[in-house]
Amino acid sequence: MKRTTLAAVLVLVAIFSRTAAGAQASPAPKPSPTPAGADHHDRQPADVFRVKPLSGGVYALYGRGGNIGFFVGPDAVLVVDSQFKDIAPGIVAEIKKVSDKPIKFLLNTHHHGDHVGGNEVFRQFAMIVAHDNVRKRMLASPADILRDYPARVEAAKKAGNEQAVKALSEQIEWAKKVKVEEIPALIMTFDSELRIHIGDETIQVWHLPPAHTDGDSVVYFEKAKVLHMGDDLFHKVIPFIDIAGGGSVKGYLAALDKVVARVPGDAVVIPGHGEVTDVAGIKAFRQYIADLLDAAQKARAAGKSKEDFVKDVDLPAYKDYQGYKDRFKANAGSAYDEAK
Ligand SMILES: [Zn+2]
Repeated sequence: MKRTTLAAVLVLVAIFSRTAAGAQASPAPKPSPTPAGADHHDRQPADVFRVKPLSGGVYALYGRGGNIGFFVGPDAVLVVDSQFKDIAPGIVAEIKKVSDKPIKFLLNTHHHGDHVGGNEVFRQFAMIVAHDNVRKRMLASPADILRDYPARVEAAKKAGNEQAVKALSEQIEWAKKVKVEEIPALIMTFDSELRIHIGDETIQVWHLPPAHTDGDSVVYFEKAKVLHMGDDLFHKVIPFIDIAGGGSVKGYLAALDKVVARVPGDAVVIPGHGEVTDVAGIKAFRQYIADLLDAAQKARAAGKSKEDFVKDVDLPAYKDYQGYKDRFKANAGSAYDEAK
């Protein structure tokens, strides 16, 4: 029963991700506390399980949700993020094709459903580790859903989006029934930094200022010089900025600056969404955030209302980014709120 319930909600997260654009077209687009994190993955199922070897035993694994990274050491495998429960067994199978060493650690970069959805599978054999706030937000998700989703159901009804109504309503039902112990939250947490040592590799985990959420961590494989950015980096993809989840547009600038200052210029970078890139990719994404805030600040200085700013704003340089149509206006609204 427990499994069925959780499986159902995670499938719903996937369904919701396809309907979110429609739901957000309604007049009250409010980022959801947890599962809406899934609405920033746009990749089609045909791309599931594409494995890209990087350096020093680190691999990127593209799937349907946030990009996975994994490291193969002499006696253990460490995985970063777990995507969705329904595809987690396939993810494990792909990793097993590369190495038969035991998967001993799973790091979650943040609490969104497309990064922690596979935790229920991984927790059977791996120690799951993440920032304190990831655990808090995962455990709080039923209460958040019960608080926020009824209004979203109404908005989706008004917008005539039946699929969203169904998906949101089923999540409300899940939230009413789920028991805290059924949520596959991590059992080991940290507050600022953590290091894991496997063979001669040191895996550094850094909690960053609030950006995508307030629980964001990035993972740096020191010897391999590979960085997993979680959703602090969307590469050529318009981000979802989870304000309700403690995120911040301005915070993104601070977070990205911290990372760039700490990693070598030739590091290989796995973004949360988009293709593997480099430090220049981080800087390009920072420029998007800076341009957005700049536009919002100018609009405020000119006395423009938030409504008019969101209606009129356009940043043509980023039009080719995936998700521009779906998420740019929401980014702009958040930027206006923070631009002073
Ligand atoms: Zn996310």
